[in-house]
Amino acid sequence: MGIIVYYSFCAVCSLVLLFLILFLIKQHNALHILFFIFVCAANFGYLLLALSRTLSEALLANQITYLGSFLPILIILANSQFCKVKLPRPVIALLLGLNAVQLVLILSIRYSDVYYRETYLGKFHGISYLIKEYGPGHTYYLVLLVAETLFSALVVLYSILKKKNVAYLTVSVLSIGFLITVMVFFLERITKLEVELVPVSYMLISILYLIISYRDQTYDIGTGIVSVYEEQKNYVCISLDRDLRLMDYNKNAALLYPEVDEVHIDSARYNKASNLYSDIILWVSHIRDGADSELEKIIPVGDRFYKTTVRIRPRKRGYVVEMMDDTEFQNNLQLMVQNMKDLKVAEQTAMEASRAKSQFLANMSHEIRTPINAIMGMNEMILRTSDDTRITEYAGYIEEATGSLMSLINDILDFSKIEAGKMEIVETQYRLSAMIRSVVQMMSPRAQAKDLTFRTTVSPSLPDKLFGDENRIKQILINILSNAVKYTRKGYIHFQVDGEPAEEGAVTLKFSVTDTGIGIKDEDMGKLFETFERLDSQNNRNIEGTGLGLAITKRIVDKMEGDLTVETEYGKGSTFTVTLTQRVTGVGNVGDWEHTDSHEVRSKVRPTIKAPQMKILVVDDNRMNLKVIEKLLSDSELTLDMAISGQDAIGKATATDYHLVLMDHYMPDLDGLSTMQQIRKLNPAYENIPFVALTANAISGSEEFYKNHGFSDYLSKPVIYNDLIEVISKYVP
Ligand code: ADP
Repeated sequence: MGIIVYYSFCAVCSLVLLFLILFLIKQHNALHILFFIFVCAANFGYLLLALSRTLSEALLANQITYLGSFLPILIILANSQFCKVKLPRPVIALLLGLNAVQLVLILSIRYSDVYYRETYLGKFHGISYLIKEYGPGHTYYLVLLVAETLFSALVVLYSILKKKNVAYLTVSVLSIGFLITVMVFFLERITKLEVELVPVSYMLISILYLIISYRDQTYDIGTGIVSVYEEQKNYVCISLDRDLRLMDYNKNAALLYPEVDEVHIDSARYNKASNLYSDIILWVSHIRDGADSELEKIIPVGDRFYKTTVRIRPRKRGYVVEMMDDTEFQNNLQLMVQNMKDLKVAEQTAMEASRAKSQFLANMSHEIRTPINAIMGMNEMILRTSDDTRITEYAGYIEEATGSLMSLINDILDFSKIEAGKMEIVETQYRLSAMIRSVVQMMSPRAQAKDLTFRTTVSPSLPDKLFGDENRIKQILINILSNAVKYTRKGYIHFQVDGEPAEEGAVTLKFSVTDTGIGIKDEDMGKLFETFERLDSQNNRNIEGTGLGLAITKRIVDKMEGDLTVETEYGKGSTFTVTLTQRVTGVGNVGDWEHTDSHEVRSKVRPTIKAPQMKILVVDDNRMNLKVIEKLLSDSELTLDMAISGQDAIGKATATDYHLVLMDHYMPDLDGLSTMQQIRKLNPAYENIPFVALTANAISGSEEFYKNHGFSDYLSKPVIYNDLIEVISKYVP
């Protein structure tokens, strides 16, 4: 009876152990599970044997106990794992084959006497046991057992000799357990005991195996986490226990960190010298004490980049390091960042080049304006003083040519302003009728000169008092009308002004210019508003132009939030239509626009100033410019002094109290600004002398610039006679 309890106890314990292991194992390790299953099955066989009533039952139970004959192979495999010895597959196959032969032998015991010559059922205190006379088959088993024991020892010995950091403790414990089991087996055979001791030894080795598993967390050996990554080409996976001991790694990990093959789980601590561990310690220490349970970083290893994630394993049982080869993406990213940088540099260079170009154009315009100022001024004097019709005719041509030159320079300047984003819309109150009249007065003689009919139709109900940039609208209309005149050989030009009420207090004006000119080809329409683009160059070879006019016009219209459209038929003519919305500032219609009064209409009589008491100092480093002012003002009665430099001006201002100074800006040595400041310091009374900037610096914002720097007024060169008189007359004492 006591023996039954004994066997039952062994069987129950084995089952409990099996469940315990299954419960603990999250990542099932086949080797471990098989080991415990075979132990339990074999012990169950021993229980059945003890309970069997007949010889036949006892023989069957005996066959079941032989499932334990697979344990040596499992122990060899476990040992080789702990020793980091990779057994060749043929060796494993051979071991399994030899054991299979053994299994066949044991299965044949009822039919042959190769394994047992004779068998009887014995009883010992009511417990059944087999009395056997061994045959040669049994000897085969004994030899196999000894061979397997030796092979296991060999594996351990090999690893001790060849490998570092072998799990000595684990391997020794396992080997001792194995040896005890084998010895018990042999002891039984020699002593012919009635009681089976093998189940006890199986229990012993199971307990030892369990201790090893728990201590080294081998039940978790990573067949789960790591094996997922085994087949994935770009992934490296390393699993560590909570003391940073290496638990498992995949093939890629060994390729990246060859030292992992040298480090073993049983090595008490990591090998500090290894690259892997110095890296891992660095990453894990980030999350070990910190609040974060995960770290994600791009880590360079050699010439590759790894997207590395370090995670704390569930229940803080250690860490998992996953590294994804992200080199391609990272390289592309770096390339992209580099490209962005290059692009930024290129953009900056282009912007600088554009700025330099705009500055160059502004400088050129300044330089060209100075001599034109002299030409225009002197030419005006010729026109005014000469009675010789031939000479005035020539002077007339000069006036025309300088006018064209000025408009060209203004176009270039406008273009540079637009490019630099500096073109401003300056809105003031103006009269539509006066604006239309001044445009028509300028354009109709040009049309007449080409024998073209010039018709103007203005809707009389349009409001007359508007608010907007009159000069820019004039510029738009003159550009379009000039083109109509230029590109029409015969026929007419029809200028129409119409409109319709926009929102409250505003009107949308519609200016259209129809001509019977050469028209534009469909394929050229796309280039119409491009800068420096001239169309139909074969036909237009003799027509002057730069290809800037429409580009500027379009940009000004856009800036005013208006619209510019073209309808054209090649060979027949074109209609350019501009729509612009303007605020209405007062009552009154355009009505009979040709005859309404306007302050805009300049008197045909040249204005002059009669103020001999007014002392004016004109400062310019260019003698010709001084001459121009002197001559322009020769009809007026004023006291003029001329200074050829800043220093000269200061000298003259010391001697005389002036009522007005006309001051050039750019002069060698002392420029206009400094000269003004020094003159003002000469005497407290000079603080309030009005200074008028007289400069060829006509870039946008110049007027504000000079007014902000202490000048009272601003006149750009070439000087327009009426403007000059108007400004001076403001300061007559
Ligand atoms: P351009 O200084 O050459 O006149 P624009 O920018 O004013 O430059 O015009 C660009 C081109 O558009 C011109 O060269 C011309 O070929 C075409 N163009 C402009 N207006 C007309 C028109 N009314 N009829 C026919 N072609 C025109």
